[in-house]
Amino acid sequence: MTPTIARHCDKCKQYHIVDIKDATPIVCPQCAHPWGTITTLDKVFDFCPACQARQFYTSKDFNQFIGCSIMAIGIILVPWTYGLSLPVFALIDWLLHKRVPTIANCYKCGSEFRHLPIPKNLKPFMHHIGLKYDKYRK
Ligand SMILES: [Zn+2]
Ligand SMILES: [Zn+2]
Repeated sequence: MTPTIARHCDKCKQYHIVDIKDATPIVCPQCAHPWGTITTLDKVFDFCPACQARQFYTSKDFNQFIGCSIMAIGIILVPWTYGLSLPVFALIDWLLHKRVPTIANCYKCGSEFRHLPIPKNLKPFMHHIGLKYDKYRK
């Protein structure tokens, strides 16, 4: 799997996924706007290549909506399944989550990093850190 960065371009505002390699500038595939430069892939989480922020969080590479709607179906089915749908659907939800890879996200510019080894010290999104960067995200 090739490491990638995915973000909304500052210029054309489109969401793009771009392969990243050592010592390579990242350029928007649509409008050629420069996004930044990768020095080495193992340094990506020292400084965000796009915005130089130093804080990242992990998330599941997963459409949250799917997880929610699976649980919602389980809840809707409760009257017919005597509540059995809840643990069953919670299990499905959990199994789906386990299969979904973890990605890293930049707090400041929202760039998503896939197929890179994620440092162990990265934590899921923390609200108080997110607040600090709120003004940068649109
Ligand atoms: Zn662009
Ligand atoms: Zn960033």
